[in-house]
Amino acid sequence: MNRFMRAATRKKRDYLMEVALQLFIEKGYEQVSVDDIIAATRTSKGTFYHYFKGKDEILREIPRKQTEIIEAWSARKPSEVQSLESHVNRLMLDLAEAASASPRLIRSWLALSLQNEGLKTAMEEWRRHLHESLQRWLPDYGRAHMLVTVYFGILIEWCAAEEEDGPPLPARMQEGLAWAWHGIRSRTGEGPVWTEPERKGEQVMRVAVIGGGLAGLTAAAYLSEHPGVEGILFERSPQLGGRAFTYEKAGFTLNYGAHAVYGIDRHSLSEMERELGMSFSSKQVDKRRVMYAKHGELTPAPLDFVNLMRTDLLNPMQKMRFVGEITAIIANIHTLRNYETLGDYLAQSDADEDVKELWEHLVCSNFFIAPEEARKVPGAVISEYYHNLFLSMRPVNYILGSWAVITNQLKQKIALGGRWDIAIQEGVDSIRYADRKFVLATKTREEAFDRVIFAMPVQQVVKLLKGTPWEPFLASYEDNTATEVMVYDIGLKHVVARPFSYISDMDNKLFISDVSATDHTLVPPGGQLLQGIAYLSDKFEDDAERKAYLDDKTKQMEALFDQYYPGWREATEVKRVSKKAMVASVKNIATNKLLPVRVENVPFYFCGDGCEGKGELAERAFSSARLAAKAILEDLPVATEQR
Ligand SMILES: Cc1cc2nc3c(=O)[nH]c(=O)nc-3n(C[C@H](O)[C@H](O)[C@H](O)COP(=O)(O)OP(=O)(O)OC[C@H]3O[C@@H](n4cnc5c(N)ncnc54)[C@H](O)[C@@H]3O)c2cc1C
Repeated sequence: MNRFMRAATRKKRDYLMEVALQLFIEKGYEQVSVDDIIAATRTSKGTFYHYFKGKDEILREIPRKQTEIIEAWSARKPSEVQSLESHVNRLMLDLAEAASASPRLIRSWLALSLQNEGLKTAMEEWRRHLHESLQRWLPDYGRAHMLVTVYFGILIEWCAAEEEDGPPLPARMQEGLAWAWHGIRSRTGEGPVWTEPERKGEQVMRVAVIGGGLAGLTAAAYLSEHPGVEGILFERSPQLGGRAFTYEKAGFTLNYGAHAVYGIDRHSLSEMERELGMSFSSKQVDKRRVMYAKHGELTPAPLDFVNLMRTDLLNPMQKMRFVGEITAIIANIHTLRNYETLGDYLAQSDADEDVKELWEHLVCSNFFIAPEEARKVPGAVISEYYHNLFLSMRPVNYILGSWAVITNQLKQKIALGGRWDIAIQEGVDSIRYADRKFVLATKTREEAFDRVIFAMPVQQVVKLLKGTPWEPFLASYEDNTATEVMVYDIGLKHVVARPFSYISDMDNKLFISDVSATDHTLVPPGGQLLQGIAYLSDKFEDDAERKAYLDDKTKQMEALFDQYYPGWREATEVKRVSKKAMVASVKNIATNKLLPVRVENVPFYFCGDGCEGKGELAERAFSSARLAAKAILEDLPVATEQR
């Protein structure tokens, strides 16, 4: 029956069900006939069969209604999801709302479920369905189980209470869920909770954040927690997210990049999850399905000891050698960290060429760097990165539902505090110092601030500060170069092939991720999302040479798709090819310098993936933004207290 059926019809139907269930409880399901129900409800056979096909249908009705709610919930797009917590709560509260509309019916149904095998099975099935649906977003058995248990526990508690006793079911559910999430978060330790500070007068610090990418949103979210700070986040484009911007097309969710997080258990994002009370889930890329292709042959990527033993890239002696290198890195005693660059280390190493090539290739793919520059990455940077990665229990994870799940929560956090404005499509054009304030000008207004955070690529910072008194202090960052890539996304109507989750073509230095093999939330049912990446060189004689190079890369990429995903051209529903997307605003090579969060003689704060901080790529954007916000909070002229 239609879920939008008229209220009067629903009432009648509920009444029949209620009486029937009551009879089932009193006499036992088998002992009650349809005629008994008709007699007890003083209706006709025609009326009964108008609503139900038979006695069985009554039993299945309640779980069926709840299943409809779950299915409507599962169909929501990831980019509409504010946070994992609010998304899961929405489902639980919708289910509770529906149940609370027919309290007597639910009570009878639960009571009968304990007696009747058929009903017990139906209830078990729906319980399993709820669990599986939650696991789509929360691929952690224990957490999903805990939430299902909370739901049923509260439902039973509410059923046991007298109707007029205590709060209604949705309110009980809301409170129970709040405790459940508190428990889920505190499993890894509770983050700081700001208490209302003791204010010196009513002094409030005004802060401007320029840039609404991951870094700007993170800095503003931390600051928005504090009652002594208010501010504006300026973003020049029509949307937030910057390079982590997410968009939906034909049922596919696209990000630049696969929103991969390296070593999530040791990642700044996990720290932020606790500190900012965020919630999201992630899924690990299947290591056994990460492949390297060399001379047309596929072999497992040596990501861990199992794959290393299986790979054909190295012979047994070379494998031993490589294991030794990894062990030294884990123990933090590898000499690589003392070399200025990987190239310097490899030049003096007596390892075989295959081992050297492997090093170069690993660095190229993990640092998102063109092959010819892998050898320029500093030894200390590589050493620290792999030390962290090899110690991680979860080396490569995707944030389920894309970066939007993170950016939506940060945005919500900033707005909820009520002290911050987000100014979209309002680029900051200039900055000057007047009356002990920093005055920022956009096309439409001028605003004065006590502190300013630049959360944008270093090249753009340098440009914005040109002609100001601070320009000379940023001169050494002026020539920083970025890592640029060609991104070739294809959304396919159906899965054309799934030979691996990620392939790295060692001959042409091209990479394809089967994004949907790890994150199934990003595609319509049965669909497939593939992302091809090529790191680009930026040294060309002229535009014609550059164009020819990009055309060549495009052809190589399409040939790689042809080889491993035959039929992709016919199945393509969505295609996006971006040439020269900026992956890292500062390529982490020895000749580039990351911008510190504070620069001597410059009164501003800097964050973003081109700044100093923990990790690479998005992690550096998050960690430097956190540092910038904390530095400002330390500067506050009020006494703050942490519990
Ligand atoms: C193809 C691709 C794949 C990637 N894959 C991954 C990955 O798998 N894992 C990972 O960790 N990272 C990945 N990244 C990198 C990650 O996306 C970036 O490191 C991160 O998004 C950088 O965030 P940010 O806030 O520092 O900078 P941005 O995202 O560049 O944000 C800066 C913002 O500032 C705004 N702005 C600039 N000037 C002004 C102004 N004057 N006034 C107002 N606003 C201004 C810009 O419009 C922009 O929105 C990938 C990137 C790309 C391109």
